[in-house]
Amino acid sequence: MPTSSLGPEAVDPEALGSGALDSGALDPEVLRVAVFRRFAARGAAGSPAELAALTGQPEPAVRAGLRELAAQRHLVLDADDRIVMAHPFSAVPLGFSVMGRATLWWGGCAWDSFAVPHLLPDEPEVLVATRCPACGRPHAWSVSRREPPPGTQVAHFPVPVARMWDDVVHTCGGQRLFCSPDCVAAWLTARKQQPGYVMDLAALWRLAAGWYAGRLDYGYTRRDPATAAAYFRQAGLEGAFWGL
Ligand SMILES: [Zn+2]
Ligand SMILES: [Zn+2]
Repeated sequence: MPTSSLGPEAVDPEALGSGALDSGALDPEVLRVAVFRRFAARGAAGSPAELAALTGQPEPAVRAGLRELAAQRHLVLDADDRIVMAHPFSAVPLGFSVMGRATLWWGGCAWDSFAVPHLLPDEPEVLVATRCPACGRPHAWSVSRREPPPGTQVAHFPVPVARMWDDVVHTCGGQRLFCSPDCVAAWLTARKQQPGYVMDLAALWRLAAGWYAGRLDYGYTRRDPATAAAYFRQAGLEGAFWGL
């Protein structure tokens, strides 16, 4: 079971902890944690000005720091240094809402939306809602960290893992949940698109469960391709799509 403790910051989820504001230069890790804790606490991304206030740093340094974090694929920025995505959170609608006890997020994609209760200690169960891209039928699940939600819907991922970051917002936008394999097939036919990878809700839940563990804490490192492949394998995924 992945855990990510905010510890004493549970009262103030945006708090950065002692030492965060002490040093002269902006520590990229302090900025990264500020981005994710702000997004987790409010459901919205902090602007460069807001992140400057949170970290006690000048806005130009924050903007430079955000661009560095984007280069390292910790987040996605637009041309004005505004945060578009900080996975699993999104500042733009991509087909999913994730409702917590007092916070509402755009889930980046099926994978990201199912990851939220695993990442946030104070949100053990969230309501994930979407529409089938093929037929428009609404779907909603109570997603907890205990077990996969029941349901016969399937997720379809169009872009193989090796190319997911070529255009990650486009990739997330395509990772959707459908009524059934028939709806996936109809959607692909209508778009003249080749099939990607189809998985049931249990597989999606296993994929999401530990993927973002530690992202709200200091010292987080992104997985390299080898550890990512090991993670996908233990989640029960298979094939070249996942680099396996
Ligand atoms: Zn995503
Ligand atoms: Zn459908």
